[in-house]
Amino acid sequence: MYLSKKFSSISPSATLAIDSKFKAMKAEGIDVVGFGAGEPDFPTPRHIKDAAIAAIENNMTTYTPASGTLAVKEAVCCKFKNENNLEYKAENIVVSNGAKHSLNNALGAILNPGDEVIIPAPCWVSYPEMVLLADGVPVIVNSTEEEGFLPTIEKIKAAVTEKTRAIIINNPSNPTGMCYSEELLREIADLCVKNNIYIIADEIYESLVYGGRKNFSIATISDEVKDITIVVNGVSKTYAMTGWRIGYTASNARLAKIMGNVQSHATSNPNSIAQHATVAALTGDQEPVLEMKKAFEERRNHMVERMNSIDGVSCIMPDGAFYIMMNISALLGKEIDGTVITGSDVFAEKFLEVEKVAVVPGKSFGTDIHVRWSYATSMENIDKGLDRLEAFIAKLK
Ligand code: PMP
Ligand code: GLU
Repeated sequence: MYLSKKFSSISPSATLAIDSKFKAMKAEGIDVVGFGAGEPDFPTPRHIKDAAIAAIENNMTTYTPASGTLAVKEAVCCKFKNENNLEYKAENIVVSNGAKHSLNNALGAILNPGDEVIIPAPCWVSYPEMVLLADGVPVIVNSTEEEGFLPTIEKIKAAVTEKTRAIIINNPSNPTGMCYSEELLREIADLCVKNNIYIIADEIYESLVYGGRKNFSIATISDEVKDITIVVNGVSKTYAMTGWRIGYTASNARLAKIMGNVQSHATSNPNSIAQHATVAALTGDQEPVLEMKKAFEERRNHMVERMNSIDGVSCIMPDGAFYIMMNISALLGKEIDGTVITGSDVFAEKFLEVEKVAVVPGKSFGTDIHVRWSYATSMENIDKGLDRLEAFIAKLK
């Protein structure tokens, strides 16, 4: 069988694989608790759903411009102006089928075969594969828990070569929940300007930062930085709209045109009804966002406190998103049912098998001594999951 070397070498998304396993177990009636895929457990806010229903009733069901309607682009520009103090025009915006699609467009627009992309790690599972899909070479820059899961500027500088074309800054980060300091972002921006490196700023979790902090958007540093930055965002996490599939980029107009051209052949427009709902999300009442954020913050605080009171595991306090990286190094080498916990994948597999709790192995993000828990689930589930964690640890020999 003839196969594309590129496509056949791509591994499936570990986060989505665990999520479908969890959902399948649940459908079978198994009492499983899911902390796998990060998606808000809240329904999409009422006024957004109403806008989508109105769009259907008003027959807004035809093709739209391939890179999104003017109404969505203008709503996105308003969001950037009001929330990030960034000025963009409609020509800078491309609306796509989720931020995943936006990221693929962005990488496709800037990379040629062999070009390198720096990815600070632990990183989201999809970044390295997306770079490979765009014929690039992922260059992973690791950071440890002791470093707050953020790369030092020295490590990033050491990874730069003449083939470096871009760096992906995911702020706040999935899977660690950490936010970059303004100082580190300024150092990174400076390095990128001097070396002609694009910045792909994935800010999909920007509205989910806690403890009164505000996320700092790297493109705000200067016009020069803004010009080399492709900001990626979307409605999935902020508005509990993961299934609607709307993401967007803001970039210089030349890049936006290239991405829009490709999209016009690859997918045409993103869903017309979801675009209409996105206008309502971005321009409508933001109170539901604040309520969801408050709930996430309470869950984070509770989960971190309880996790750190359990012998054998620990975690640092994440600044944002809805993920916790639990350190399992003290459990490695222990045994359950004749299986030795040699790494995060064995831990996650046995935890699911024995206690029916789904978490994502840190290995998928580049750290084998952690597992990722998403706290985008109810307090009741969080306590149930942590009770089961205690039971699991008690069974380890
Ligand atoms: N970036 C990061 C860091 C994510 O965690 C996700 C989650 N799916 C995405 C982008 C893509 O989100 P979506 O495609 O749902 O907009
Ligand atoms: N981004 C979320 C996660 O990391 C959703 C699944 C995915 O798209 O990877 O769990």
